[in-house]
Amino acid sequence: MTITEAKARLPLPELARRLGLPGPIPDRDGKAFTCWWPDRHNNGDRHPSMSFCYRLTGYKCHACGMKGDGITLLQHFLDLSQQDATKRFVEMAGGQPLSPPDTAPSEKKKRLHLPTDLRRGTVDDWQAVADIRHLDVCSVDLAVEMGVLRFGTVHRFPCWIVIDESRRVAEARRMDGQPFPKTEKLPQRKAHTLYGSDKSWPVGLRPLHTKPHLFKKIMVVEGGPDLLAAYHFLYTMHAMDALPVAMLGRENHHLHPESLRHFAGRQVKLYPHADPDGGGEAAACRWAEEIHHAGAAEISGFTFPGLTREDGQPVTDLNDCTLLAKKQITEIESILL
Ligand SMILES: [Zn+2]
Repeated sequence: MTITEAKARLPLPELARRLGLPGPIPDRDGKAFTCWWPDRHNNGDRHPSMSFCYRLTGYKCHACGMKGDGITLLQHFLDLSQQDATKRFVEMAGGQPLSPPDTAPSEKKKRLHLPTDLRRGTVDDWQAVADIRHLDVCSVDLAVEMGVLRFGTVHRFPCWIVIDESRRVAEARRMDGQPFPKTEKLPQRKAHTLYGSDKSWPVGLRPLHTKPHLFKKIMVVEGGPDLLAAYHFLYTMHAMDALPVAMLGRENHHLHPESLRHFAGRQVKLYPHADPDGGGEAAACRWAEEIHHAGAAEISGFTFPGLTREDGQPVTDLNDCTLLAKKQITEIESILL
């Protein structure tokens, strides 16, 4: 079956329903409906702006510009390469089941619970995050543009949230810098992982970028604040050739199997936390091992011991490096790959 035939046999409304995308989804070209990427819209897409075209084989959002066909839709929502998405699309058009037996059937079951007001935020939100994490506000804006930083209400608190287009994992921190209070089920915690998250996914690996494979380098950091700090250094050092990703916690022993193929052929640098018990570095060693086996071209690490902040405190993570004493300027230069 050709791709054109497959597109005719599997029109977008049917594909969208089979993928479980939120409705209502119209069955004709030109009728506006709510964009599938509402957090690309400042207003949450209150005014429906997505529509189908080319006899239900294309989609386009007139507000955020997202457009494509059934294959790009599969790439987005099933995290497939273009080649795999094409194959899957043709299979689906031929009536094949959505999940072939070689993918774990339970993998997509737990759906990520996102705040209903998930949004890009305003300049004031970006400035607040820049202030609390001592970052350049332009790098915060960059993280928003790359789709790895969003804002929303979690447990009634205004939060900043790290996330990516895979929608596999998201973690929130309060805008006021305070921890989330203890609940019946959860202890007091600085960061709240949203329900349905799979923390083995390195968040940031699927940015809002049309050609993420063009980044030849990947920075692997630990935690949301370090993810933003990585963007800070890339921006302030005019080095936009690396893609930052974050493992959300050292207790994640393995990287998600689907994530590993993204590391093949790339230069990778890890930035483990300098925890007193060595746990941060031990975790980074395990991740490096898996990344190595996945075929990374080169793997290196950056260590913080010996570095001090402007205020004399030791540097223990990448976010602290934004406060490095001026005399350690050469260390700052060696942060990037
Ligand atoms: Zn849109």
